[in-house]
Amino acid sequence: MSKKQMTKLSAVKSYIYNCRKCGVCGGKVTARVPYVCPVREATPGFEHFYSRGKIIIAQGMLEGSITPSASLAEAMYSCTLCGNCMTQCGATDQETGQPLVNTTKIVEAMRADLLEHNPEFVDPAYQALLKSTRQYDNPWGVPRTTKGKWTKGLGLKDAQKERAAVLLFTGCTVPSNPSLLERAKKAAAILNKAGVDFAVLGQHEPCCGSVQKRIGDFELAREMMKKNIFLFNSIGCDTIVTLCAGCCSMLKNEYAASETALKPKAYHLVEFLAKLVREKKLIFAIKQTRTVTYHDPCHLGRHLGVFDAPREILQGLPGIKLVERSATRENTICCGAGGGMRIFAGGTIAEDIGVKAAMSAQHAGAEAIVSACPFCELNLDAAVKRLDSPLPVYDIIDLVSDALTGC
Ligand code: SF4
Ligand code: SF4
Repeated sequence: MSKKQMTKLSAVKSYIYNCRKCGVCGGKVTARVPYVCPVREATPGFEHFYSRGKIIIAQGMLEGSITPSASLAEAMYSCTLCGNCMTQCGATDQETGQPLVNTTKIVEAMRADLLEHNPEFVDPAYQALLKSTRQYDNPWGVPRTTKGKWTKGLGLKDAQKERAAVLLFTGCTVPSNPSLLERAKKAAAILNKAGVDFAVLGQHEPCCGSVQKRIGDFELAREMMKKNIFLFNSIGCDTIVTLCAGCCSMLKNEYAASETALKPKAYHLVEFLAKLVREKKLIFAIKQTRTVTYHDPCHLGRHLGVFDAPREILQGLPGIKLVERSATRENTICCGAGGGMRIFAGGTIAEDIGVKAAMSAQHAGAEAIVSACPFCELNLDAAVKRLDSPLPVYDIIDLVSDALTGC
């Protein structure tokens, strides 16, 4: 790859040169921030596994002292894009508070240039994911008909045929995964219970493009975004409610920055449910006696600032006691599944990271982990199984559904 070809990396040049090389992003051992980079913590911890090393490599690439290789690609794809390095980094704009070093944008840009010019160095599992997206419009190799199966017999409004105020957007991971399917059905039942006028797209629901963007196929993600904005705007809904933190971050952050405006407002289900609870449209009647901890998905918490809504819901559930882990909210320990890490190197690093997150829940005295993202749930579930821990992993939808009569 020549310097001229590094267009994506050049576009984020200022972030690279704003880095002071202080190394804060590789350290911290306090109760609040036991460690910054989950990848560094779960690997031998060499410089290239955490933010500073990746930025030094990016600078070397821009200046021509480093050329693409398989080990460089390994360094770039060893990142969950959790954003904790940005939260802990002291280089912020004094007026806006925005990070002056945006590591997630640097890593994504390096991945994009690599994928475009040196795909031979990129893990083939990512190519399979991109091929599946082109073939089925979802990354998990699942045909459209499978994706729509959860709606069968529920009598839900079809968003392409009838207008509804809300579009319930399940994302690809929930309806493609047998262990998560019930979540979509429960979400629909909860919305029905609250009297929400909503519709679904079923087998015609497209992929939001988040995973494709994170692994570096900017072009494909842009095409998907363009097509989806047209679809969402033509449906005529006012609101899109997502079940997945990654979809929500994609709709709120990336779609919002697109040339064509997305007309409906996007929310994650926890934000929407918290509002319904405040409006007393959902009354929790059934008591569940359980001590739980909430795992903040990085895409919902650090990337969108949604920390209070899920806690508000959990604290309102009869019998539920919420305990916080020492590293929580903006300092939360990543589950390990983001940024394409559940695919990278067979998902081993992702699971090693998940084990640390699950252990922190045990230390907090929780009897269950509750999250609001299918990626977190799958990875934390694999982690607790590896630990042989009795700790169940739930989505907040499960607890809300259990607290409502007739759901
Ligand atoms: S990314 Fe931030 S914390 Fe890390 S070395 Fe650069 S300036 Fe320091
Ligand atoms: S985004 Fe997360 S995983 Fe990636 S370098 Fe920063 S702290 Fe490490």
